[in-house]
Amino acid sequence: MPELPEVETVRRTLNELVAGKTIERVSVHLRRIIQRPEDPEQFAAFLQGQTIRTVERRGKFLRILLDDRVIVSHLRMEGRYGVYDQDEPVEKHTHVVFHFSDGTELRYKDVRQFGTMHLFMEGEEFKLPPLHKLGIEPLDTGFTKEAFREKIAGRSTKIKPLLLNQEYIVGLGNIYVDEALHAAGVHPEREADKLSRAETDRLFESIVLTLQEAVDAGGSSIKSYVNGQGEMGMFQQQLKAYGRKGKPCEHCGHLIEKTVLGGRGTHFCPQCQPLKPKKRLPKRSI
Ligand SMILES: [Zn+2]
Repeated sequence: MPELPEVETVRRTLNELVAGKTIERVSVHLRRIIQRPEDPEQFAAFLQGQTIRTVERRGKFLRILLDDRVIVSHLRMEGRYGVYDQDEPVEKHTHVVFHFSDGTELRYKDVRQFGTMHLFMEGEEFKLPPLHKLGIEPLDTGFTKEAFREKIAGRSTKIKPLLLNQEYIVGLGNIYVDEALHAAGVHPEREADKLSRAETDRLFESIVLTLQEAVDAGGSSIKSYVNGQGEMGMFQQQLKAYGRKGKPCEHCGHLIEKTVLGGRGTHFCPQCQPLKPKKRLPKRSI
Protein backbone atom coordinates (compact mmCIF):
# COMPACT_ATOMS: atom_id res chain seq x y z
CA MET A 1 0.00 0.00 0.00
CA PRO A 2 1.59 3.29 -0.99
CA GLU A 3 2.08 5.80 1.78
CA LEU A 4 2.69 9.52 1.66
CA PRO A 5 6.27 9.40 0.32
CA GLU A 6 5.41 7.00 -2.48
CA VAL A 7 2.32 8.97 -3.48
CA GLU A 8 4.40 12.16 -3.38
CA THR A 9 6.93 10.54 -5.72
CA VAL A 10 4.18 9.48 -8.11
CA ARG A 11 2.72 13.00 -7.89
CA ARG A 12 5.99 14.67 -8.86
CA THR A 13 6.64 12.28 -11.71
CA LEU A 14 3.08 12.43 -12.98
CA ASN A 15 3.15 16.21 -12.85
CA GLU A 16 6.32 16.27 -14.96
CA LEU A 17 4.80 13.92 -17.49
CA VAL A 18 1.23 15.22 -17.95
CA ALA A 19 1.01 18.89 -16.93
CA GLY A 20 -0.09 20.96 -19.91
CA LYS A 21 -1.62 18.05 -21.82
CA THR A 22 -5.18 18.29 -23.11
CA ILE A 23 -7.58 15.36 -22.82
CA GLU A 24 -9.19 14.52 -26.13
CA ARG A 25 -11.23 11.64 -24.79
CA VAL A 26 -11.29 9.10 -21.97
CA SER A 27 -11.89 5.33 -22.21
CA VAL A 28 -13.11 3.54 -19.11
CA HIS A 29 -12.67 -0.23 -19.28
CA LEU A 30 -13.60 -1.00 -15.68
CA ARG A 31 -16.58 0.89 -14.28
CA ARG A 32 -15.82 0.34 -10.60
CA ILE A 33 -12.65 2.47 -10.67
CA ILE A 34 -14.85 5.52 -11.38
CA GLN A 35 -16.64 6.35 -8.13
CA ARG A 36 -17.99 9.77 -9.07
CA PRO A 37 -19.98 10.51 -11.13
CA GLU A 38 -21.75 7.15 -11.08
CA ASP A 39 -21.85 6.91 -14.85
CA PRO A 40 -18.36 6.46 -16.34
CA GLU A 41 -19.60 7.89 -19.63
CA GLN A 42 -20.40 11.10 -17.81
CA PHE A 43 -16.93 11.01 -16.24
CA ALA A 44 -15.46 10.80 -19.72
CA ALA A 45 -17.74 13.52 -21.10
CA PHE A 46 -16.85 15.98 -18.32
CA LEU A 47 -13.15 15.50 -19.01
CA GLN A 48 -13.26 15.98 -22.76
CA GLY A 49 -11.26 19.05 -23.78
CA GLN A 50 -9.91 19.71 -20.29
CA THR A 51 -6.22 20.51 -19.88
CA ILE A 52 -4.22 19.19 -16.94
CA ARG A 53 -2.75 22.13 -15.05
CA THR A 54 -0.91 20.38 -12.28
CA VAL A 55 -0.95 17.32 -10.05
CA GLU A 56 -1.18 17.80 -6.29
CA ARG A 57 -1.59 15.53 -3.30
CA ARG A 58 -3.80 15.36 -0.23
CA GLY A 59 -2.76 12.57 2.11
CA LYS A 60 -2.48 9.46 -0.01
CA PHE A 61 -4.76 10.87 -2.71
CA LEU A 62 -3.58 12.46 -5.95
CA ARG A 63 -5.44 15.56 -7.11
CA ILE A 64 -5.23 16.01 -10.85
CA LEU A 65 -6.23 19.62 -11.47
CA LEU A 66 -7.81 20.44 -14.82
CA ASP A 67 -9.35 23.64 -16.23
CA ASP A 68 -12.19 23.72 -13.72
CA ARG A 69 -12.44 20.14 -12.53
CA VAL A 70 -10.30 17.87 -10.42
CA ILE A 71 -9.80 14.10 -10.43
CA VAL A 72 -9.16 12.68 -6.97
CA SER A 73 -7.28 9.42 -7.48
CA HIS A 74 -6.29 6.78 -4.94
CA LEU A 75 -3.91 4.04 -6.05
CA ARG A 76 -4.76 1.72 -3.15
CA MET A 77 -2.75 -1.52 -3.35
CA GLU A 78 -1.52 -1.79 -6.90
CA GLY A 79 -2.63 1.23 -8.90
CA ARG A 80 -0.08 2.54 -11.42
CA TYR A 81 -0.04 5.38 -13.90
CA GLY A 82 2.01 5.35 -17.05
CA VAL A 83 2.38 7.65 -20.03
CA TYR A 84 2.60 5.92 -23.40
CA ASP A 85 2.49 6.64 -27.09
CA GLN A 86 -0.95 5.84 -28.44
CA ASP A 87 0.38 3.08 -30.72
CA GLU A 88 2.10 1.20 -27.93
CA PRO A 89 0.17 -1.97 -27.10
CA VAL A 90 -2.18 -1.64 -24.13
CA GLU A 91 -1.14 -3.94 -21.32
CA LYS A 92 -3.46 -6.20 -19.35
CA HIS A 93 -5.24 -4.65 -16.35
CA THR A 94 -5.38 -1.20 -17.96
CA HIS A 95 -8.71 0.17 -16.75
CA VAL A 96 -8.77 3.85 -17.62
CA VAL A 97 -7.04 5.62 -20.54
CA PHE A 98 -6.80 9.39 -20.93
CA HIS A 99 -6.11 10.08 -24.62
CA PHE A 100 -4.25 13.36 -25.06
CA SER A 101 -4.35 15.66 -28.09
CA ASP A 102 -0.57 15.20 -28.63
CA GLY A 103 -0.91 11.48 -29.39
CA THR A 104 0.19 10.24 -25.98
CA GLU A 105 -1.95 8.53 -23.36
CA LEU A 106 -2.06 8.37 -19.60
CA ARG A 107 -2.99 4.79 -18.70
CA TYR A 108 -4.18 3.61 -15.31
CA LYS A 109 -3.33 0.00 -14.58
CA ASP A 110 -4.48 -1.81 -11.47
CA VAL A 111 -4.15 -5.58 -11.04
CA ARG A 112 -6.12 -5.65 -7.78
CA GLN A 113 -8.79 -3.20 -9.02
CA PHE A 114 -9.05 -1.43 -5.64
CA GLY A 115 -8.02 2.01 -6.90
CA THR A 116 -10.60 4.79 -7.21
CA MET A 117 -11.19 8.02 -9.13
CA HIS A 118 -13.64 10.73 -8.13
CA LEU A 119 -14.37 13.73 -10.34
CA PHE A 120 -15.39 17.09 -8.85
CA MET A 121 -15.71 20.72 -9.79
CA GLU A 122 -12.54 22.24 -8.36
CA GLY A 123 -12.94 23.21 -4.70
CA GLU A 124 -15.93 20.91 -4.20
CA GLU A 125 -13.65 17.93 -3.51
CA PHE A 126 -12.81 19.02 0.03
CA LYS A 127 -16.47 19.07 1.11
CA LEU A 128 -17.27 15.50 0.11
CA PRO A 129 -15.85 11.98 0.50
CA PRO A 130 -13.15 10.84 0.18
CA LEU A 131 -11.25 14.03 1.15
CA HIS A 132 -13.70 15.78 3.47
CA LYS A 133 -12.60 14.30 6.78
CA LEU A 134 -8.87 14.10 6.25
CA GLY A 135 -6.57 15.24 9.03
CA ILE A 136 -3.47 17.37 9.10
CA GLU A 137 -0.70 17.05 6.46
CA PRO A 138 2.50 16.03 8.25
CA LEU A 139 4.80 17.80 5.79
CA ASP A 140 2.89 21.11 5.78
CA THR A 141 4.00 24.10 7.82
CA GLY A 142 0.80 23.78 9.88
CA PHE A 143 2.11 20.54 11.39
CA THR A 144 4.00 21.76 14.43
CA LYS A 145 4.92 20.25 17.80
CA GLU A 146 1.99 22.15 19.31
CA ALA A 147 -0.43 20.97 16.63
CA PHE A 148 0.72 17.38 17.13
CA ARG A 149 0.38 17.61 20.92
CA GLU A 150 -3.15 18.97 20.48
CA LYS A 151 -4.00 16.14 18.10
CA ILE A 152 -3.16 13.44 20.60
CA ALA A 153 -4.15 15.20 23.82
CA GLY A 154 -6.89 13.32 25.67
CA ARG A 155 -6.66 10.32 23.35
CA SER A 156 -6.42 7.18 25.43
CA THR A 157 -6.09 4.90 22.40
CA LYS A 158 -2.84 3.19 21.52
CA ILE A 159 -0.48 5.46 19.66
CA LYS A 160 0.00 3.32 16.55
CA PRO A 161 -3.67 3.03 15.52
CA LEU A 162 -4.06 6.74 16.25
CA LEU A 163 -1.22 7.59 13.88
CA LEU A 164 -2.76 5.35 11.24
CA ASN A 165 -6.10 7.16 11.53
CA GLN A 166 -6.28 9.43 8.48
CA GLU A 167 -8.73 11.74 10.23
CA TYR A 168 -5.92 12.76 12.58
CA ILE A 169 -2.83 12.79 10.42
CA VAL A 170 -2.84 11.90 6.75
CA GLY A 171 -0.39 9.88 4.77
CA LEU A 172 1.09 7.64 7.44
CA GLY A 173 0.60 3.95 6.78
CA ASN A 174 1.86 0.80 8.44
CA ILE A 175 5.46 1.12 7.26
CA TYR A 176 6.19 4.70 8.23
CA VAL A 177 4.31 4.51 11.53
CA ASP A 178 6.55 1.60 12.56
CA GLU A 179 9.60 3.55 11.38
CA ALA A 180 8.65 6.78 13.16
CA LEU A 181 7.82 4.99 16.43
CA HIS A 182 11.12 3.13 16.29
CA ALA A 183 13.08 6.31 15.60
CA ALA A 184 11.33 8.02 18.52
CA GLY A 185 11.78 5.08 20.91
CA VAL A 186 8.04 4.83 21.53
CA HIS A 187 6.34 1.44 21.87
CA PRO A 188 3.43 1.16 19.40
CA GLU A 189 1.02 0.07 22.17
CA ARG A 190 1.65 3.03 24.46
CA GLU A 191 -1.46 5.06 25.24
CA ALA A 192 -1.30 8.33 23.32
CA ASP A 193 -2.17 10.63 26.22
CA LYS A 194 0.31 8.91 28.54
CA LEU A 195 3.29 9.94 26.44
CA SER A 196 5.54 12.49 28.07
CA ARG A 197 6.11 15.88 26.52
CA ALA A 198 9.62 14.77 25.49
CA GLU A 199 8.30 11.59 23.89
CA THR A 200 5.58 13.48 22.02
CA ASP A 201 8.11 15.97 20.71
CA ARG A 202 10.50 13.20 19.70
CA LEU A 203 7.69 11.39 17.92
CA PHE A 204 6.72 14.56 16.10
CA GLU A 205 10.28 15.01 14.88
CA SER A 206 10.55 11.35 13.88
CA ILE A 207 7.36 11.50 11.83
CA VAL A 208 8.51 14.56 9.90
CA LEU A 209 12.06 13.28 9.45
CA THR A 210 11.04 9.76 8.42
CA LEU A 211 8.58 11.05 5.83
CA GLN A 212 10.88 13.79 4.57
CA GLU A 213 13.80 11.38 4.12
CA ALA A 214 11.56 8.98 2.22
CA VAL A 215 10.21 11.78 0.03
CA ASP A 216 13.76 12.95 -0.70
CA ALA A 217 14.87 9.41 -1.51
CA GLY A 218 11.90 9.05 -3.83
CA GLY A 219 12.57 12.41 -5.38
CA SER A 220 16.17 11.57 -6.14
CA SER A 221 15.32 8.18 -7.56
CA ILE A 222 12.43 9.29 -9.74
CA LYS A 223 14.37 8.57 -12.91
CA SER A 224 15.13 5.00 -11.98
CA TYR A 225 11.49 4.43 -11.21
CA VAL A 226 10.21 5.66 -14.53
CA ASN A 227 10.78 2.86 -16.99
CA GLY A 228 10.85 3.08 -20.76
CA GLN A 229 7.11 3.52 -20.96
CA GLY A 230 7.14 6.30 -18.38
CA GLU A 231 5.53 4.05 -15.84
CA MET A 232 6.03 5.02 -12.25
CA GLY A 233 6.71 2.40 -9.65
CA MET A 234 6.97 2.49 -5.90
CA PHE A 235 10.34 2.67 -4.28
CA GLN A 236 11.31 1.04 -1.05
CA GLN A 237 13.10 3.18 1.45
CA GLN A 238 15.88 1.80 3.62
CA LEU A 239 13.85 0.62 6.61
CA LYS A 240 15.04 0.21 10.20
CA ALA A 241 12.07 -1.54 11.84
CA TYR A 242 9.39 -2.50 9.33
CA GLY A 243 9.91 -5.94 7.82
CA ARG A 244 13.04 -6.57 9.92
CA LYS A 245 11.67 -9.16 12.34
CA GLY A 246 14.52 -11.17 13.87
CA LYS A 247 17.19 -8.78 12.59
CA PRO A 248 19.29 -6.69 14.96
CA CYS A 249 18.12 -3.19 15.80
CA GLU A 250 20.51 -0.65 14.30
CA HIS A 251 20.49 1.37 17.53
CA CYS A 252 21.05 -1.29 20.18
CA GLY A 253 21.52 -4.67 18.53
CA HIS A 254 18.46 -6.26 20.18
CA LEU A 255 16.39 -8.30 17.74
CA ILE A 256 13.40 -6.54 16.18
CA GLU A 257 10.14 -8.20 17.18
CA LYS A 258 6.87 -8.45 15.32
CA THR A 259 3.42 -8.46 16.81
CA VAL A 260 -0.07 -7.79 15.50
CA LEU A 261 -1.77 -4.61 16.62
CA GLY A 262 -5.23 -3.69 15.39
CA GLY A 263 -4.86 -6.32 12.70
CA ARG A 264 -1.63 -4.80 11.38
CA GLY A 265 1.80 -6.40 11.49
CA THR A 266 3.82 -4.24 13.86
CA HIS A 267 7.61 -4.15 14.15
CA PHE A 268 9.48 -2.72 17.11
CA CYS A 269 12.61 -3.03 19.22
CA PRO A 270 11.64 -4.03 22.76
CA GLN A 271 14.80 -2.42 24.12
CA CYS A 272 14.58 0.96 22.36
CA GLN A 273 10.78 1.05 22.60
CA PRO A 274 9.85 -0.25 26.05
CA LEU A 275 6.15 -0.70 26.82
CA LYS A 276 6.76 0.58 30.32
CA PRO A 277 9.45 3.20 29.98
CA LYS A 278 11.77 3.88 32.86
CA LYS A 279 11.60 7.38 34.24
CA ARG A 280 14.80 8.44 32.52
CA LEU A 281 15.15 7.33 28.95
CA PRO A 282 18.60 7.20 27.42
CA LYS A 283 19.26 10.15 25.20
CA ARG A 284 18.71 9.20 21.61
CA SER A 285 19.44 10.83 18.36
CA ILE A 286 16.97 10.54 15.55
ZN1 LIG B 1 16.89 -1.13 19.70
